[in-house]
Amino acid sequence: MVAPAVAAPLVIGLDVGRTKILSGLVDREGNVLAEREVTSPADSQTGVLDALDDAVEALLDDRVAAIGYGIPANLERGTGRILGAMNLPLAGVDLARRARERYGLPVGIENDGSAAALAEWRRGAGRGTSNLVMLTLGTGVGGGIVLDGKLFRGWAELGHVVVQEGGPPCTCGGRGHVEVLASGHAADRVARELYGPGADAHALIERARAGEPEAASALAAIGASLGAAVGSLVNVLAPDLTVVGGGFGAAAGDLLLGPALDSARREAVPPADESLRIVPAELGADAGLVGAGLVGFEALDGIR
Ligand SMILES: [Zn+2]
Repeated sequence: MVAPAVAAPLVIGLDVGRTKILSGLVDREGNVLAEREVTSPADSQTGVLDALDDAVEALLDDRVAAIGYGIPANLERGTGRILGAMNLPLAGVDLARRARERYGLPVGIENDGSAAALAEWRRGAGRGTSNLVMLTLGTGVGGGIVLDGKLFRGWAELGHVVVQEGGPPCTCGGRGHVEVLASGHAADRVARELYGPGADAHALIERARAGEPEAASALAAIGASLGAAVGSLVNVLAPDLTVVGGGFGAAAGDLLLGPALDSARREAVPPADESLRIVPAELGADAGLVGAGLVGFEALDGIR
């Protein structure tokens, strides 16, 4: 329910996933005041667009000053037009322009990993920093970059950093990328190799927590792959800290981040080998929605 004494303006944030659309009213502080979740009908473009319109219209009232979308897609820099969306039939759609024309409001759109990075930077583990890398470990690996106090709005395919040249094939066609070595999907694969076809990442995490050495070392190896990517990103971007989130990142963070730090320190060029920090995300499953809301506020404030 909408809290009564909330100061306008509010924005509608939409966290558009492959299987569900999470929407909510978000205030400038990043508080989510009303939240809805619907299944995304990913079978047709019209179906997805209709579901997105319904999600907006269910929340639209006279306090709403802007709309923000976080979407698992590559966006054209500058315009925000969707170039390609994995598993969502939205390639070529200019969702932001469409919503601007439909609702007469400022509209922002960002890649979902970038939106999560914006949320953690403004309202989560990265508060007070100026340079941040966020990695979201879910089925795949995504992320975003804040540089010099601004969200980086270009392509940030952080899941496709090469960790092991010639390694296992990645979803993108490359090999040995951090996505294929340190995602929840990677943990599922390792669990099946160790414990048979019924096992998954959750089982692997449970066994590691119960003290099974082979499960713990499998997760440590996943953490080490993550850390190798972090070390490379630190060498390029010198962030104040690296935030690790996403569903798998949250579930296994305590088992991954120690080995990740060791590995990142091995790869990072001094003095970053000593100073680099890897911290768990704070906003959990809300990061995408909060980020989408903050993207809406950036559109409202004219920040590009
Ligand atoms: Zn890849």
